Amino acid sequence: MPEGPSLYILKELVKDFTGQQIVRADGNVRAIDPARLVGQQIEAIHTWGKHLLIETPAMVVRVHFLLFGTYRIDEGREGKTPRLSIEAANGHVLNLYACQVREIDRATYAAYDFSADVMSDAWDPKKARKKLRAQPDMLACDALLDQDIFSGVGNIIKNEVLFRIRVHPLSTVGALPAPKLRLLVDEARQYSFDFLEWKRQYVLKQHWLAHAKRICPRCQIPFLKAKLGRTNRRSFYCERCQKRYT
Ligand SMILES: [Zn+2]
Repeated sequence: MPEGPSLYILKELVKDFTGQQIVRADGNVRAIDPARLVGQQIEAIHTWGKHLLIETPAMVVRVHFLLFGTYRIDEGREGKTPRLSIEAANGHVLNLYACQVREIDRATYAAYDFSADVMSDAWDPKKARKKLRAQPDMLACDALLDQDIFSGVGNIIKNEVLFRIRVHPLSTVGALPAPKLRLLVDEARQYSFDFLEWKRQYVLKQHWLAHAKRICPRCQIPFLKAKLGRTNRRSFYCERCQKRYT
């Protein structure tokens, strides 16, 4: 499942496509006609959470990686037809699989809030804290997965951040003391960059302390595992060292 850091890697990989003309576009996508992209110049490529945005004069394409989306660059096809395949004039090929591809209008494109993207240069922690304070009853486990606040944070990062800052997933945001709230926001970004580094070195999983783990490394007692919150995603947490603020 791609979390923000995986898309950050993709963003770096697609740098060579910016400014290039698209010489071929096809795939089994139904929602757009890929032929409309042929001859278009790629004016910009952005990522926002699990979205990849490709801007051309004719249209802005939004690729949503959902839960199982993958990409290949300059590699052979995975043996199946890509949802969308784009070849640039410089020979680079971007293949996208198991994702949702749509055209978005200019207003939607302009409304993307890059200050909510935890890995963006435009990330605004103050704004994130303000959004959290506006929803005091929201659970901590739901808050971290809220893409309008923490775009790019997925379930692994959620579990690891809550463990790192010793906050129980069922804590309510409004009950968190100000320093904890600040820590929650800061670690959402910090852990995302740690995740990126570990992923690049292929050592991500060995750094997990809570996600998919059975024993709390701090207390040496079993983690609890449950689908929690409105988001109903798997949480791994320790009832001894992660405090429940309510
Ligand atoms: Zn513990």
